[in-house]
Amino acid sequence: MQQIKYLLNDSDIPRQWYNILPDLPAGMLPPLHPATKQPVGPDDLAPLFPMGLIEQEVSPQRWIDIPPEVLDILVRWRPSPLIRAVALEKALGTPAKIFYKYEGVSPAGSHKPNTSIPQVYYNKKEGVKRIATETGAGQWGSALSLACNFFGVEAKVYMVKISYQQKPYRRVMMETWGGSVTPSPSNETNAGRKILAENPNSTGSLGIAISEAVEDAASRADTKYALGSVLNHVLLHQTIIGLEAKKQMKIAGVDPDVVIGCCGGGSNFYGLSAPFIQDKINGAKVDIVGCEPASCPTLTRGHFHYDFGDSVGMTPLLPMHTLGHTFMPPSIHAGGLRYHGMAPIVSEVLRQKLMRAEAFNQIECFQAALTFARCEGIIPAPESSHAIRGAINEALKAKEEGKEKNILFLLSGHGHFDMSAYEAFLANNLGDFELPQGEIDRAWNAIKDFPEAKEF
Ligand SMILES: *Cc1c(COP(=O)(O)O)cnc(C)c1O
Repeated sequence: MQQIKYLLNDSDIPRQWYNILPDLPAGMLPPLHPATKQPVGPDDLAPLFPMGLIEQEVSPQRWIDIPPEVLDILVRWRPSPLIRAVALEKALGTPAKIFYKYEGVSPAGSHKPNTSIPQVYYNKKEGVKRIATETGAGQWGSALSLACNFFGVEAKVYMVKISYQQKPYRRVMMETWGGSVTPSPSNETNAGRKILAENPNSTGSLGIAISEAVEDAASRADTKYALGSVLNHVLLHQTIIGLEAKKQMKIAGVDPDVVIGCCGGGSNFYGLSAPFIQDKINGAKVDIVGCEPASCPTLTRGHFHYDFGDSVGMTPLLPMHTLGHTFMPPSIHAGGLRYHGMAPIVSEVLRQKLMRAEAFNQIECFQAALTFARCEGIIPAPESSHAIRGAINEALKAKEEGKEKNILFLLSGHGHFDMSAYEAFLANNLGDFELPQGEIDRAWNAIKDFPEAKEF
């Protein structure tokens, strides 16, 4: 029997997260207060986040202990499996070895509980009773509802209206775990009412939903806010994926030549690749590739600049690759990848040339997802299909060049709640979007007078 699954024991679960901040060769720029243009301090963030998470946001410590209460929950489904995609390799006729780390084994079906569990833990520890958040495709809202349920905290989820309508079962999932779900834009917040006044038929966006959740948390003493991607502490929590993967690749006896993930806000991509980026900083030869949709091309066509994290302008200004906070991506099925910005850490990693980025159209991604599903069995989330496209392209390149190559990618979740997207694809009802340069220019012009993210 050929060994194709690399499983760790429960006792092998990582006990610490890896923080890249002290290792980034050119450091990082701070977030700025939008009014004063000065770096934000802990006091600015205190209305939104508990101190435990604010400390992680700026920590200079390379290794940060995972609390035992968090491990007790994560170990119910972690360590997640690393699997060699032998059937896919055979179908492609490639000399490359393809490995994937699978995060669909979590109760919510994606990598997001890796951060929702510790986030709710730190909130609970500091006496928070209620957490407000936003969700795009529904995965983050599910992950937060799951975590709030475990710790006895109330979850209030503003869900992008188009997803609320298209994905009723994601809502039911959140409600099953006790979360309450409101379609966004809603008339429960000033931000929502403002958008509805301008456009009563607005189907929402992640940026609008963020504004509503931030306003909700900032205006109530019992409530804090939680974000499922982008921020440093979120990316920190996701490094558990890469730390496990490193142990598993060691058991498999191979060093990856290329590490691939899909990029929305950057958390799953970074979670897998962080320990390999550390190797690269220390001299290893490894290609790190972030894959994004061509219709929301933050890394490949955005600017590295200060911008708001939300579309109304309530958050601090973040130094990041951005298309501009007013950018409205087309309604592609990979809802989790439709964000105008990119995590500041991932943006720095790209700017410091420790990774590269590629953009793919939705049809070529669904074709890759279908190939994967028919070879390996697992039906991927539409977001994850971008990483599969990237991995298949690398495997085909290896075949063309007649080179052996070790490919590692992250399958960030399963697509069991995305069957309507597969239905559209199988019925040939899916299109690619040509993103006009004019829309990119318009959204960029709206922010180009914001502070420049200068070299230092
Ligand atoms: C949310 C999500 C993404 C995108 O978010 P990142 O922060 O970029 O990881 C990707 N895949 C799945 C399955 C998701 O749920």
